[in-house]
Amino acid sequence: PGGVASSERKVDVSTSSKQEPVWAIEFKKICKSFGAFRVLVDLDLKVQPGEKVTLIGPSGSGKTTVLRLAMTLAKPTSGDIRIFGESILFDQAGTLLSSAEEARIRRRCGMVFQQFNLFPHLTVLQNLILAPTTVLKQSKAEAKESALRYLRMVGLEGKVDAYPAQLSGGQQQRIAIARALVMKPEILLLDEITSALDPEIAGEVLDVVRRIARESGVSMLIVTHEMRFAREVSDRIAVFDGGRIIEQGTPEKIFISPESERTRSFLQSVL
Ligand code: ADP
Repeated sequence: PGGVASSERKVDVSTSSKQEPVWAIEFKKICKSFGAFRVLVDLDLKVQPGEKVTLIGPSGSGKTTVLRLAMTLAKPTSGDIRIFGESILFDQAGTLLSSAEEARIRRRCGMVFQQFNLFPHLTVLQNLILAPTTVLKQSKAEAKESALRYLRMVGLEGKVDAYPAQLSGGQQQRIAIARALVMKPEILLLDEITSALDPEIAGEVLDVVRRIARESGVSMLIVTHEMRFAREVSDRIAVFDGGRIIEQGTPEKIFISPESERTRSFLQSVL
């Protein structure tokens, strides 16, 4: 019965919005404060299904907070966040979601963090089949088949039985990416996934993300300090400063002819 109710609700939401396209993710007037400190101020941000959007900007400008809100790891102070048309905070009547509903919507997102966060006492395969078998209730055989497929995608099918400590940082991060993908997210959130890696190792991780971006229809919301990567992988780049988007556009527009003086000076400081 839960499944039927949720699919009915999904239809309601998408048809109630007067022909507006359904966005993969939509932030509507999001504010987020910690005490008196305003991290995000009236943020509006939309990502189309399949679109790859990268957030760049100075440290502390609120980029990671955007991903944490999308993943429901934090709650906005005000505003609404929709994943494929469904609010992750409220149901249609404006009532706060139950934790089960929140979990169902959250499952449409997968996140990879700066620190790889693999379970150290589990092998690569065990890391990859844990959530699919427990959360998605896949059979072990099904989960294993899917794990092997994604391990091939990240080029580490030979490491199924390794423990995380036996892998390099770059390999662990590629496993963390595969672990997000086995949950079949529709939106992949990547939070500075190469910041903990040496530059020469970061390249192998970015290559994997480029391939996934090219080959899969997954929507991506990316936070990175790697400007070359941002330029190559993104359909659109949003420049953050002080909790607001000061400018957004194609990589060409942002990197070649930015409108904002603050964008220009940020790019000068990192390029
Ligand atoms: P960015 O990703 O652009 O570097 P963040 O979203 O991580 O920025 O952080 C924006 C600001 O919010 C920073 O000044 C940070 O210190 C502050 N901040 C983030 N999380 C918390 C928290 N849980 N408590 C207090 N301040 C926080």
